[in-house]
Amino acid sequence: MSFTLAIVGRPNVGKSTLFNRLVGKKLALVDDQPGVTRDLREGDARLGHLRFTVIDTAGLEEATDESLQGRMRKLTERAVDMADVCLFVMDARAGVTPADHVFAEILRKRSAQVILAANKAEGRAGEAGLFEAYELGLGEPLRLSAEHGEGMSELAAVLEPISEQFAEREKLAARAMEDAGLTPLTDLDVDEEPEEDESWRPSDKRPLQVAVVGRPNAGKSTLINKIIKEDRLLTGPEAGITRDSISLRVDWDGLPMRIFDTAGMRKKAKVQDKLEKLSVSDGLRAVKFAEVVVVLLDAAIPFEQQDLRIADLAEREGRAVVVAVNKWDLEDEKQAKLKDLRESFERLLPQLRGAPLVTVSAKTGRGLDRLHKAIISAHEVWNRRISTAKLNRWLIAMLEQHPPPAPGGKRIRLRYMTQAKTRPPAFVVMCSHPDLMPDSYTRYLVNGLRADFDMPGTPIRLYMRSQS
Ligand code: GDP
Ligand code: GDP
Repeated sequence: MSFTLAIVGRPNVGKSTLFNRLVGKKLALVDDQPGVTRDLREGDARLGHLRFTVIDTAGLEEATDESLQGRMRKLTERAVDMADVCLFVMDARAGVTPADHVFAEILRKRSAQVILAANKAEGRAGEAGLFEAYELGLGEPLRLSAEHGEGMSELAAVLEPISEQFAEREKLAARAMEDAGLTPLTDLDVDEEPEEDESWRPSDKRPLQVAVVGRPNAGKSTLINKIIKEDRLLTGPEAGITRDSISLRVDWDGLPMRIFDTAGMRKKAKVQDKLEKLSVSDGLRAVKFAEVVVVLLDAAIPFEQQDLRIADLAEREGRAVVVAVNKWDLEDEKQAKLKDLRESFERLLPQLRGAPLVTVSAKTGRGLDRLHKAIISAHEVWNRRISTAKLNRWLIAMLEQHPPPAPGGKRIRLRYMTQAKTRPPAFVVMCSHPDLMPDSYTRYLVNGLRADFDMPGTPIRLYMRSQS
């Protein structure tokens, strides 16, 4: 995990050109996961020996409607919230425009770290604009030419210490995790468990590992407090709350649990103030260690970009997910609101279809029993093993109902299916021409598995393999 850089600025200043240069030719890496980065491009950047994630906010120029300004603004704000560092690009040839001031203002308000770049600065035509750039109040501009590749080593030099800070954080957090006796989950995955093995069930020796993630002020500490029924954490809207632990061992109504406190992790990593905002990477880290991820939303501002991003990451990492909507005590129109929430959930996080959505009030404790149940059941489904015999009976029925397509006249034969592992459930289908299998058919099977074997709220992996 490294840091995330967002390239922002008004249209036509050269953001995409820079993005392409950083990501290189391999644009296939660009992330177009539905729901999360619909208008934002994301790629793996390389610059010298630095590796990081880069987000591009371009691509809106084609939009001709009058709401362009507003959309661009929203998009920029989203990118800024997702990023650890922002690269604000202005056009050195055009000089500073009123739109630049608007974007600079957004950044001053929202971003932890901003790097100013004056692009198209090759040759002399850029010189005047370069000096104007100072008036944006974002410090000294970096002189770039994205098109000609000038200024790249200067950019690398500015990013270098940031990259080091992040690497240091990683190390400290990893050490803190180790001190707490934790191992990343990927190491715990067992491939060949016998069917009757129940060792995954939470026990005193192996408490269920839960991460509570969400945007600042969603109520994470309040919730954890309520759960441990003691005042171990201070709560409050003010920043920089002190906590002394990255994880807490509790028995919640008889359920042995280890809860990761993402804010606590940040404290442990002792980063400087400027980086305090970086809750996304903290959440990420917790996700890696958790079996069940509770995405805690604030009912007043649900499904913000940060929430979507972390939920999507939990899915990609293969964790069981429970979505909990907090501060439910403040809602008046509960029924209508719940309907709204479910709709947004389906639309924005289709990859988490069927994941439990529960409403809670961390403050009053209402709904915590529902959350408790949802966590247990999500964990159970995540560990579910289905016998090969059952799977193959099911597969035959699915094939009869809807035979696989024959792309280019080639029949794809599905022969046999088995569950390769649990946590999350992963299945292998042996077939001819696995490379020709259309995604739509794979989705048909995954959705079928989910429905017929009652597996909501867990990622399901399905791999097509040829016999040889
Ligand atoms: P975006 O809308 O900010 O993503 O901008 P683009 O990357 O699409 O670039 C807009 C235009 O500026 C394109 O015609 C680019 O070729 C041009 N451009 C980008 N970078 C440079 C540069 O460093 N120098 C010059 N002269 N033109 C550039
Ligand atoms: P964190 O940043 O996610 O750990 O959020 P906190 O637990 O510090 O809570 C932020 C603010 O929201 C505090 O003022 C809490 O008192 C308040 N809060 C948390 N949960 C609830 C809730 O269920 N209902 C109401 N009304 N306020 C809550």
